[in-house]
Amino acid sequence: MSAWKPITQLAADVQAGRTKAVDLVERSLAAIAEHEEYKAIIATLNETAKSRAKVIDEQVANGVKLGRLAGVPFIAKDNFLVFGAETTAASNILRGFTAPYQSTAIERLEAEGAICVAKANLDAFAHGSSTENSDFFTTLNPHDKTRVPGGSSGGSGAAVVLGLAPFALGSDTGGSIRLPASFTGCVGYKPTYGLVSRSGVVAMGSSLDTIGPLAMGVEDAALVLDVMAGKDPLDSTTIAKDPAGYVLPTQALDLTGVTIGVIQEYMTDALSPPIKSEVESAVAKLRAAGAKITQVSLPSLPLGLAVYYVLCPAEVSSNLSRYDGQRYGSFTADAQNLFDSYTRTRETGFGAEAKRRIMVGTYVLSSGYYDAYYKKAQTVRTKIINEFAAVFNKVDYLLGPTAPMTAFKIGENTTDPLQMYLADIMTVSANLAGVPAISIPCGLASGLPVGLQLIAPQHADRKLLQLAQKTEELLS
Ligand code: GLN
Repeated sequence: MSAWKPITQLAADVQAGRTKAVDLVERSLAAIAEHEEYKAIIATLNETAKSRAKVIDEQVANGVKLGRLAGVPFIAKDNFLVFGAETTAASNILRGFTAPYQSTAIERLEAEGAICVAKANLDAFAHGSSTENSDFFTTLNPHDKTRVPGGSSGGSGAAVVLGLAPFALGSDTGGSIRLPASFTGCVGYKPTYGLVSRSGVVAMGSSLDTIGPLAMGVEDAALVLDVMAGKDPLDSTTIAKDPAGYVLPTQALDLTGVTIGVIQEYMTDALSPPIKSEVESAVAKLRAAGAKITQVSLPSLPLGLAVYYVLCPAEVSSNLSRYDGQRYGSFTADAQNLFDSYTRTRETGFGAEAKRRIMVGTYVLSSGYYDAYYKKAQTVRTKIINEFAAVFNKVDYLLGPTAPMTAFKIGENTTDPLQMYLADIMTVSANLAGVPAISIPCGLASGLPVGLQLIAPQHADRKLLQLAQKTEELLS
């Protein structure tokens, strides 16, 4: 569905004056208008995008050397602060909140000449797997309008696949970049924890949150990561970039001597047969291309989801306490007193899922239950981290499906939060362990996209992108 040229070519065309940045922005805005029915977008940034494009075209005319993303339009999930624009995180409580500063990720992309044209829909505060938790509307899957695009970055995934822009940004706390990539049929990259600054992105679970790109190909995702990655004084958890960067070499990875472990816990008989067979056929192609394939087990992986749904709500309950009707977004103008203002703002401002997470999170952190839930979950998290470390002594990469299902029907899981949480069963562990993971398209099951997940050790992002590029080539 998307017909954008690779990002490097778009930027080269703009720099050479063959393409006008203004035309790229117009094209993106026209595509957004044309595909409005999919409800991928919360707001467009028409005026600022056009005026930025004009400046870039003028600079080109004046012979100025621009950055690597010169004139390239992109879409940010609406939990990224874009200076001067409304940032809602798709929540009622943040309606009307204008960002007083800008996220580092956006800042770095703009410094290279990229232009943010729109803000994409998400599950409110990024809590969810389908965009159905958005306080505004549900995004439709580009392959089947009766199905969800995955979440929480569902607007970003749908936007990329519909060709609304060459790339989009997402955040991944438990799978929110990879799941929509899997459900919509694009590439979604979740970097090593700390590789991309979280500054200026609405916090969900601060020890789990990561920032990354969604794009139609690995090469584009790698370039965008390269621009955003690295230490940031505004986020003390950030880490340095790989000295070699993340832009992919022209020479594809040689798989001889590369060992890939297929995660047994994800490839059980319970996995839907068409998904299993697509993943198995990808494995066969990797083996035929020279990779050594082994079966590996991480015995605590099945506990990942339970651990995540204790720790994530705990962190969510803490992060959401700042929305008190005093500082950000909406407030109750006719409140009788401060307490009345707090309660009434939150009652209407938070949706059911945010409230559920505040209650679960507060409960597991409360004295008397802390040891039984929060501390226990932290202990198992450490066990999972250790199991990843141990398995990476034996294999270079891990492989499995991104999700146990393809895109489900809108409404299918909305009455059963536990069923909804199961969509994350194969993605959350990478966040718990802070390791990088990517979802790339891997065939279709009953006409719907299947995602292949590749995982590498912490800091091996470059290596992981190289494997993903090679795999993408083998699967095309
Ligand atoms: N679906 C998961 C959740 O609801 C992950 C969300 C995310 O990664 N932001 O917590």
